[in-house]
Amino acid sequence: MEEVKLINDDGLRLDGRAFNEMRPIRITTGVVDNADGSAYIEWGANKIVVAVYVREAYPKHAQNIDKAIVKARYNMAGFSVEERKRPGPDRRTMEISKLISEALESAIMVERLPRAEIDVYIEVLEADAGTRIASLTAASVAVADAGIPMKDLPVGCTAGKANGKVVLDLSKDEDNYGDADIPMAILPKSGKIILLQLDGDVSEQELEEAMEMMLGAMKNISRIQREALMNRYMIEDGE
Ligand code: ADP
Repeated sequence: MEEVKLINDDGLRLDGRAFNEMRPIRITTGVVDNADGSAYIEWGANKIVVAVYVREAYPKHAQNIDKAIVKARYNMAGFSVEERKRPGPDRRTMEISKLISEALESAIMVERLPRAEIDVYIEVLEADAGTRIASLTAASVAVADAGIPMKDLPVGCTAGKANGKVVLDLSKDEDNYGDADIPMAILPKSGKIILLQLDGDVSEQELEEAMEMMLGAMKNISRIQREALMNRYMIEDGE
């Protein structure tokens, strides 16, 4: 198959970004009135809403007397992709829901909320590559916004390879026609990796390069998450 040209002769990507440049990210909280906590993220053209509800797990036999159950449900709206997405869960959405549930659980102090269920509803309104990571990044903020005790605020990023070069934060074209896709998430305080996937072909050195780039970018994304939470409470204080 002929290679699709994803990087031009000046070293720029199709959307004009440098190899180590992120798409813009904006996060707001408190966007769903009925929820205990919520967040909205725009990451490039991705648009995702997360609403968090905390309740006693039901039925009773489903409760864990030692800790809370964390259930994330990732869903793509029918209009979120160019070809209408078939409604309902499929293998991919179930896999992403599980990954996000586990990543969030590693940060939540679940033992502080025995018998509880934490439902994290993720609605992807527009999808443009990197939605699992954008969803987790927003879900962390929504869980914190719900006042759920957390050890740390999970944050993620993706990198990959396009035309043989390691690039940060894959675009849709790079995801489709590139050589590799590497989503990753960490607990920033401890540095613990809570999600790492690799789809494609990379050398050990390229993987290291990609991880280094992502770790650098995650520092900024963490800051955007914390600012989103601070903005919310500063505005409320001023009212
Ligand atoms: P991620 O969104 O985490 O990168 P994938 O690598 O599986 O997950 O998907 C890449 C992109 O492909 C998505 O962000 C979305 O734009 C598109 N996509 C995923 N599933 C579908 C689908 N069922 N129909 C059309 N496009 C899809």
